[in-house]
Amino acid sequence: MFEIKKNDLAGRIGILYTKHGKVETPTFVPVIHPVKQTIPSKKIREIGFDLVITNAYITRKHFGEEAGRIHDIINYDGAIMTDSGGYQVLEYGKVDITPKDIASFERNLETDIAIPLDKPTSYGLGKAKAKSFVEQTLRVSKETLEESKETDPMWVGPIQGSEHFDLVKKSTRALVKYGFKMLALGSPVELMESYEYVILANMIITAKKQMPSSIPLHLFGAGHPLTIPLAVALGCDTFDSASYILYAKDDRYITEDRTLRLDKITYFSCNCEICSKYTPKEIRELDKKDRIDIIGLHNLLTIKSEVDRVKQAILEGRLWEYVLKKAHSHPKLYEIIQVFTKNHDFFINTTPRFKEKAVFLFSKEDQFRPEIISYHRAVRRFRTKRDILMILPDTTLRPFYLSAEYKKLEKKFANQNVQFCQFNPFLGLIPLEISDLYPSAHFVMSRNSHQPQDFSEFTKTWNEFFSKNNFKYVYATDDKFLKFYTKMLPKKIKKKSLKI
Ligand SMILES: [Zn+2]
Repeated sequence: MFEIKKNDLAGRIGILYTKHGKVETPTFVPVIHPVKQTIPSKKIREIGFDLVITNAYITRKHFGEEAGRIHDIINYDGAIMTDSGGYQVLEYGKVDITPKDIASFERNLETDIAIPLDKPTSYGLGKAKAKSFVEQTLRVSKETLEESKETDPMWVGPIQGSEHFDLVKKSTRALVKYGFKMLALGSPVELMESYEYVILANMIITAKKQMPSSIPLHLFGAGHPLTIPLAVALGCDTFDSASYILYAKDDRYITEDRTLRLDKITYFSCNCEICSKYTPKEIRELDKKDRIDIIGLHNLLTIKSEVDRVKQAILEGRLWEYVLKKAHSHPKLYEIIQVFTKNHDFFINTTPRFKEKAVFLFSKEDQFRPEIISYHRAVRRFRTKRDILMILPDTTLRPFYLSAEYKKLEKKFANQNVQFCQFNPFLGLIPLEISDLYPSAHFVMSRNSHQPQDFSEFTKTWNEFFSKNNFKYVYATDDKFLKFYTKMLPKKIKKKSLKI
């Protein structure tokens, strides 16, 4: 049903199997209006969207109980997900249909993936209300799943709770227990509109920690290139939005890192089929209806490119670099870096231990990338009986046992009981015996001067290394960063300077 092909951080490239074909994830799921869609769904399929979402509640309201197959209604032959009206509950407070009726209607639509009628918890909703919404959603979800037959669509369990993380946790655990094969995390729209990316990120992590990795996670209402890398890196596999068309209605043009008003654009930096054909001025001169579709199409293509860039980053093992780069697009998004540096335990198991490419180390945040944290852990387990420690600086050849500097020293100290190590601010100490363990010989580091006080992982490893091993002598090169640490060594260890 869901197959994972490649991981990086908590993000993954996977295949979702549906009755209407395979869907490669992560994927953006465009919202298709069952009645008023103006960009043809055929065009949307051609662009490469193999899964779309449409609204069962509106479909029923417009076409009645005997609406027929949803694939015929929206004229789309890929996989379709139907929302049940939860969004309308969020907008208007309630809907005039029972959960049971909408579930049976979704069944009759022969949709591929369906969502029971949930009661979304919006951002800012008090705890007691949120709790009752969560309970109602869980009750409806459980009943819907219990009444499902073999021919049913795949039912998605809606996780609610918003910023009340204990409710998100409770929701997720219950839905997994009921047996849902896919989950969807509710209502991040307002969080994104109020730039609460940190809350959003913590909400996703809270849910992900309660579900097995074999279950795909959908994120409701995320469709901007600013949020997509964040959502994917935290483990969201699919995410839907009508942003492409809603923004277009408002003459708003989505770029890879912001949203611009059409009247403020002089030059298009995009080369999509729209932007290479029209100038901003020409689009402004079109009538409203054409303009909406044209901007909408550009917006859709921009979102698609963003998803593709994130997927390429997963394949290359560069998702960390990509997310941190993206975080610099907006001061509020920048705040999510702390979520990534604080949650390394969440990322460590799903980030490959070995990668084909070198890791890039720019600044202090990078000491917390999962590959680096794994290396620190290996060093903290390292034991030696030798009593002389020699700390070499970075060498041009890696692993350092291949370098001329090391070979010279090895000859000079051949008859002594020496443990050779290298150091660098990010990786900490690098003992010779594990100096080829990834990524200690596979990194590119900026040569900016790094402040020892900023490298807490180095400090931890250093303290552990000296408390678990018994060195009498330490030879260290004259290096400002290293000096900060050698000064902290107990007096019984004799310090000597190492000249290379
Ligand atoms: Zn464009």
